[in-house]
Amino acid sequence: MTLKQVLVTGATGRTGFLTLEKLRQHSDEFTALGFARSATKFKELFGSTEGFFEGDIKNISSLEKAIAGCQALVILTSAIPKMKAPPQPGQQPEFEFEAGGMPEEVDYLGQRNQIDAAIAAGVEQIVLVGSMGGTLPDYPLNKIGEGNILIWKRTAEAYLIDSGIDYTIIRAGGLLDKAGGVRELLVSKNDVFLTNPPNGIPTSIPRADVAEVVVQALREPNARNKAFDLISKPEDDPSAIVTKDFAALFAQTSAGL
Ligand code: NAP
Repeated sequence: MTLKQVLVTGATGRTGFLTLEKLRQHSDEFTALGFARSATKFKELFGSTEGFFEGDIKNISSLEKAIAGCQALVILTSAIPKMKAPPQPGQQPEFEFEAGGMPEEVDYLGQRNQIDAAIAAGVEQIVLVGSMGGTLPDYPLNKIGEGNILIWKRTAEAYLIDSGIDYTIIRAGGLLDKAGGVRELLVSKNDVFLTNPPNGIPTSIPRADVAEVVVQALREPNARNKAFDLISKPEDDPSAIVTKDFAALFAQTSAGL
């Protein structure tokens, strides 16, 4: 079997780490490479810098070297809001984005750079992990630091779709650091989970499950040219049937934003 060479950006992020680890567990299928800003952080997480490319997604030339020879790209970068200062007792914390780390720069222009570099390198498929809330300008996350983060993420998704490359866009719900593989996963579109959550369940999902869906999207032909919102039923939901058939999950999704 020919190995599929995959570059994971945001490899030192929480979902990026899990995704690269998972891909590397399937070394009979994938050669998995990681792109991140810090070699030190990468080495701390993975134990070595083998298969590591250092760079910044705002600098397209650093991406070009990493992506050469890859058949697939997994985009797991994101602007990261920082707490302004510890809140006073009884007050809510306030968040902002650092200079150079605004969502327009990272989630739009940085993602465009990744898409452009991938297309120039002849990559066949891009799997992009985004976030729900991009149709809801007043959603609280869009208000953080005047960043409109989810709007910029969705604008980059539209750019990806219009680029013509095969895409899989996974718009995750709130990410949890909990075990994967023990929940039923649910898909939808256009923020319906946020505006009308099924049976009022939390609109969240473990990062490990998102990482698994990324791996499956690289395998399953019917994950190609699909975009969907993704959440999980709670682990203790008595109605849940743990998702194991990913082809069936992708069959419930559709093309276009
Ligand atoms: P995360 O831990 O916040 O990681 C984000 C990664 O992006 C980090 O590794 C960071 O690098 C990298 N990054 C940021 N700016 C960069 C730049 N200019 N160049 C290169 N790398 C850059 O991610 P996560 O919380 O696991 O989320 C994964 C994805 O799911 C994101 O797209 C996020 O928006 C989406 N999502 C998140 C949530 C949530 O609840 N957090 C909910 C739904 C969807 P460093 O390691 O160097 O900082």
